[in-house]
Amino acid sequence: MFLLSVTLLYFLPSIIGHKKRDFTGIFILNLLLGWTVIGWIIAMIWACAAGEQQPVYAIAGPARYCTRCGAMTPGAHFCPTCARPL
Ligand SMILES: [Zn+2]
Repeated sequence: MFLLSVTLLYFLPSIIGHKKRDFTGIFILNLLLGWTVIGWIIAMIWACAAGEQQPVYAIAGPARYCTRCGAMTPGAHFCPTCARPL
């Protein structure tokens, strides 16, 4: 029970940011630097400040940008990283 509480607290920034556009970045920062406290605070601020996820796809030149995982894919109809249709 204690371990579960600590784990939930540790991943709180990721939980808050799970519907945000920058979720991948927040999660990686939370996972890798959360134990440094400073990294955890930055992840927490980022999660609170990040914009809501929007079902829109920004097209930068011939490459398509996946809003779910942030991968840039030139001319593909599906994201090679998370298989999301672009
Ligand atoms: Zn993707």
